[in-house]
Amino acid sequence: MIQKPKGTRDILPSETFKWQYVEKKAQEIFENYGYKQIRVPVFESTELFERGVGDTTDVVQKEMYTFEDKGGRSITLRPEGTAGVVRAYIENGMSSLPSPIKLWYAMPMYRYENVQKGRFREFRQIGAEMIGSQSYLADVEIITMASQLINDFNIPDVELNINSIGCPVCRAKYQTALKEFIGKNLEEYCNTCKTRFEKNPMRILDCKEKRCKELNQGAPVILDFLCEECSTHFENVKSMLNKLGIKYKIDSSIVRGLDYYTKTVFEFISKTEGYTVLAGGRYDGLVQELGGQPTPAIGFAMGEDRLIDVFEKYNRENRVRERKTDLYIATIGEESIDFALKLALELRQLGLYVETDICQRSLKSQLKYADKQNTRYTIVLGEDEIKNKIVKIKRMRNGEEKEIKLDANEIRQIIRYWRPRQ
Ligand code: ATP
Ligand code: MG
Repeated sequence: MIQKPKGTRDILPSETFKWQYVEKKAQEIFENYGYKQIRVPVFESTELFERGVGDTTDVVQKEMYTFEDKGGRSITLRPEGTAGVVRAYIENGMSSLPSPIKLWYAMPMYRYENVQKGRFREFRQIGAEMIGSQSYLADVEIITMASQLINDFNIPDVELNINSIGCPVCRAKYQTALKEFIGKNLEEYCNTCKTRFEKNPMRILDCKEKRCKELNQGAPVILDFLCEECSTHFENVKSMLNKLGIKYKIDSSIVRGLDYYTKTVFEFISKTEGYTVLAGGRYDGLVQELGGQPTPAIGFAMGEDRLIDVFEKYNRENRVRERKTDLYIATIGEESIDFALKLALELRQLGLYVETDICQRSLKSQLKYADKQNTRYTIVLGEDEIKNKIVKIKRMRNGEEKEIKLDANEIRQIIRYWRPRQ
């Protein structure tokens, strides 16, 4: 039997309703903040990610699905959303639209990762990007929106950590200090870290190797090197979050895994699972890096697979339920089939979830199926019902029955506003 590729998942019908719930809720929240959905290609030119994400990152060096297409182009399955969204922003002249531009997406991503809990090779992200504001208020809005997303999913175990990783100006001084620190033990670092030492020493702080992590203990922190502008920006972000009552911790070790970040970076971490559910930050240099005008921007991405895991833990009581069949129309005999199909069509057009027999089964097995489907109401259509235009509707929860007119509007009315018998 052919099996799915390692690191991919089948999300089955018994699960999809949770995903739909999360996606719908996210869309609602995004819309309340004025974000509009954008959809970009699953694959892009490899160069986009090399330039955008950065060619010394794990994502680009180790995790990309890259191949040559039949036309000899180097193509990569998107490992993240921001680079593609920014490319689309530039390519479609969105900079001439009223600023800021607020975008959201829900898309699968592809990374050749070591598969483990919460880490897949195909995974889904829901994210937002705000392009065109350099004010700290944009940071506050994005963080507020992310935190509303987490709160509305009722997952109390998730905490917000923030940091600032400065701009190229403060980073120059910081990198000198960092190289001095790392340089003392460079021989002991892993090979990847060694190759990053000259080009991008900050990346070494994000290394997942145990030995490198140990060596990184006590490294200088960038917060101590922020220039005045970055420092004021960060102070403003923090004080506004305080005013809004949004709880956070400063974590000076957050450097994030993608090179485009500047200034504010943040992560929402699940304490019990130990992984990051949502992460983001400012990326003031990316639009220009990808060929646009210098344009500040900030965004985040939530790992939907991880979110669903945590969400399930805290929402066992099924706040979110699968939709139940409103009505099952059982049929006896040929004439009732015509009638049932027409009635089902009418009721579905009225917005009800209706099922009827399409396997030509016996009445008994139709009713058994209806029961297994968790049907709310059932009617049985025979010759008499059709002739007299009167039918008994049964409420499956308690077996209660009512005699009603056999008419779509009447049935809809009853289902919507069923009152218990006096
Ligand atoms: P990590 O440090 O966990 O590898 P990252 O820094 O690579 O995360 P981002 O690129 O910022 O993560 O992606 C944002 C979010 O997407 C992560 O916080 C996580 O929730 C989710 N995510 C990233 N990689 C994966 C993956 N391989 N499988 C499932 N979810 C993922
Ligand atoms: Mg990663």
